[in-house]
Amino acid sequence: MTKYKLEYIWLDGYTPVPNLRGKTQIKEFERFPTLDDLPLWGFDGSSTMQAEGSNSDCVLMPVAVYPDPARKNGVLVMCEVMMPDGVTPHPSNKRASILDDDGAWFGFEQEYFFYKDGRPLGFPEHGYPSPQGPYYTGVGFKNVGDVAREIVEEHLELCLEAGINHEGINAEVAKGQWEFQIFGKGSKKAADEMWMARYLLLRLTEKYGIDIEFHCKPLGDTDWNGSGMHCNFSTDYMRTVGGKDYFERLMAQFDKNLHDHIDVYGPDNHMRLTGKHETAPWNKFSYGVADRGASIRVPHSFVKNDYKGYLEDRRPNSQGDPYAIASQVLKTISEVPVGKASAAA
Ligand code: ADP
Ligand code: MN
Ligand code: MN
Ligand code: MN
Repeated sequence: MTKYKLEYIWLDGYTPVPNLRGKTQIKEFERFPTLDDLPLWGFDGSSTMQAEGSNSDCVLMPVAVYPDPARKNGVLVMCEVMMPDGVTPHPSNKRASILDDDGAWFGFEQEYFFYKDGRPLGFPEHGYPSPQGPYYTGVGFKNVGDVAREIVEEHLELCLEAGINHEGINAEVAKGQWEFQIFGKGSKKAADEMWMARYLLLRLTEKYGIDIEFHCKPLGDTDWNGSGMHCNFSTDYMRTVGGKDYFERLMAQFDKNLHDHIDVYGPDNHMRLTGKHETAPWNKFSYGVADRGASIRVPHSFVKNDYKGYLEDRRPNSQGDPYAIASQVLKTISEVPVGKASAAA
């Protein structure tokens, strides 16, 4: 038997943006535990905005398991929060009720800032560094400093070793701003891995004395980019059948559901989706081929391939909940009948 360190991780009840929480229990298993091996556990919901002090127990239900590369015999356990009965989802538990579909693929591009001493990493104590331009995909100390890349590489390694489908990294447009991408088949799988990747990044940067700023526009109304979490998506039908007619009906439905999407695409998005800095205004839906100033960017490959493939919704922001984002995308898609015959309906 081996003693495993099980880190149970969950989302708390803070709004509009939940925090990641985690605590460890040690349990013995013959081999690396599967989901079925992992017991329910509890926590004090009165300390996480999830219960009153007088009746404070909440239940943690494991829903995904990953090896924890940072610990000997470590296990990362993604959990849903349940009511004390262990079966009713807690009101803060969004994951329990989202739409899912294994045939729906999601690629999230998580942008964020490193923050130190209350400002982006590499910003001087007063004023600003030289303007945006050389930082995006940049190299060299004057562009990326001396520690960001080390963290980003370490995070990449942790994600890969945990079995998270990390797909890439780049330095972003603002100084101190970076991006990583996570791809998954199914909304729960992709979103679980995004939350876990965020957890690993937050935990990793503790020892550097650096914070992760996920707010979508931390520098406000300035000439510094905000942070998004573009959602690239495709369904089986989009990849294999697609077609211009279906695409246009899909875009009409996205237009119609504009507010339902914006509602779950992350707080303060009006600060970021201004029409400047490679964004479209938040209150007007648009799409365009290779257009980084549109709400939805249509890749060249999509058009060349008879309107088959994936689309990029550029509106979700860096603080958005990937569970809610993926679910809303699937909801809008589900409202569009497939096949030509239904076009007249
Ligand atoms: P860019 O910065 O040019 O917008 P990235 O390379 O950062 O592009 O992100 C593209 C994302 O699209 C990746 O996360 C990738 O996993 C995702 N992606 C690629 N093909 C598909 C697909 N068929 N369905 C869903 N997502 C996809
Ligand atoms: Mn990208
Ligand atoms: Mn980007
Ligand atoms: Mn993108």
